[in-house]
Amino acid sequence: MYYGIAASLADTLGAKKIFGGHIRHDGQVFGDAKRSYLMKISKLAGIPFSFPFIGLGKKDIIRVGSKLGVPFQHCWSCSRDGKKHCWNCKSCREREMGFREAGVKDPLKHV
Ligand SMILES: [Zn+2]
Repeated sequence: MYYGIAASLADTLGAKKIFGGHIRHDGQVFGDAKRSYLMKISKLAGIPFSFPFIGLGKKDIIRVGSKLGVPFQHCWSCSRDGKKHCWNCKSCREREMGFREAGVKDPLKHV
């Protein structure tokens, strides 16, 4: 569904490519996040999709982001609707584990 919306926006805006933020773990958990499935959607949408992180784990991406100076304090991970991360949902726990495994301090946990 998200890529259908992205394809529609890309067509309206004249974009030449759609980038997705999937990581390796996503394809292991969700059938619609596997590279093979996503490529089929790309073909149907008639616009190339690119997934630069699909072969990487969360800790790898956090390390790359840390080197690039990504402002992680502005990156939302929580699955729940709130003004702050709950730190109890699966997404929050995965974020916490990713930062720990990467050896990077999460700025949201250290404010
Ligand atoms: Zn959460």
